[in-house]
Amino acid sequence: MTLEEKIHEYSAPAELFERLKDDGARCLACAHKCVIPPGGAGICKVRFNNSGILKVPWGYISGYGLDPIEKKPFFHALPGALTFSFGMLGCNFKCSFCQNYLSSQALRDPACSEGGIQPAAPGKLAEAAREAGAAFAVSTYNEPLITAEWSVAVFKEARKYGIRGAYVSNGYASAEVLDYIRPHVDIYKVDLKTFSDENYIKVAGGKLSNVLKAIEMIHARGFWLEIVTLLIPGFNDGEKELESLAAFVAGVSKDIPWHITAFYPTYNMTDREATSPETLLKARDIGLKKGLKYVYTGNTPGQGFEDTLCPSCGKGLVTRRGFKILNNSVKVTKKGKGLCGNCSAAIPGLWK
Ligand code: SF4
Repeated sequence: MTLEEKIHEYSAPAELFERLKDDGARCLACAHKCVIPPGGAGICKVRFNNSGILKVPWGYISGYGLDPIEKKPFFHALPGALTFSFGMLGCNFKCSFCQNYLSSQALRDPACSEGGIQPAAPGKLAEAAREAGAAFAVSTYNEPLITAEWSVAVFKEARKYGIRGAYVSNGYASAEVLDYIRPHVDIYKVDLKTFSDENYIKVAGGKLSNVLKAIEMIHARGFWLEIVTLLIPGFNDGEKELESLAAFVAGVSKDIPWHITAFYPTYNMTDREATSPETLLKARDIGLKKGLKYVYTGNTPGQGFEDTLCPSCGKGLVTRRGFKILNNSVKVTKKGKGLCGNCSAAIPGLWK
């Protein structure tokens, strides 16, 4: 059985779509909003039109893992919490520097076709998360927006055990999908890949403006939002570009944590060196100058900029080494608000 045949076997009717005339379907799960004729598939290749009904991935996972929440990365959501991460196959982007290309590009690139799948049921995944002691179930590894119905089914089961839902996403979201997942997802990480529309289209296959609009919508809907930028030499590390990017994030909210992570050559982008620590530090300075209160550097443990400091008094609140929490002195109020343990300034995030 080919991978495409397997994908068709593991499918269920979509909730995020509208029917069009002549058995056409418009998918609403991401900002591409593909119009799909009968027998066709969307850009992501995993949502397809079966006689006027959109069918979507269901009943399988490509893999799962138990990770600290810092690895996703979320730094302002229950530091040190364990996550149960699961993924499917496919993506609505085609980034040449993808770090999960075996699962994300499995249907697009024959070199990735080893991405295997195993049958799964939402209740069983939730039970596994509970047995492991996970605080979050995380839809990740591939793009969760394109498998939104499945992730919500898993999150509904997980919520029965008090486990919260999380998205690790490229942020190419529609308003419809955000409204659909909001009751089930508490925290949302967006990969903001570049601030150049030309590069977004060329490398990822999507429009920058749609990602920016989604970031505003995610924030406005009250998800706890953190943003990551993989800093790639010669691609997105120009000073002006980083200034524009940081100014945009600060314009949405200065409280949004911005993670700047180091690139290492991978997949189809092996023509350049890894990001230098100096470049990361330069980007961090730019973020702080634009008013962002929490700017972290990642993939370079021990640099000292992975700790959460109080923006009011400067006291170290959460000390990290890699994915380990060495100290956490955020005070948590009865209502779950985070406060600096020293000066009681509000520290935004999900702390309880
Ligand atoms: S999830 Fe996005 S890419 Fe996939 S079919 Fe729907 S609109 Fe198209």
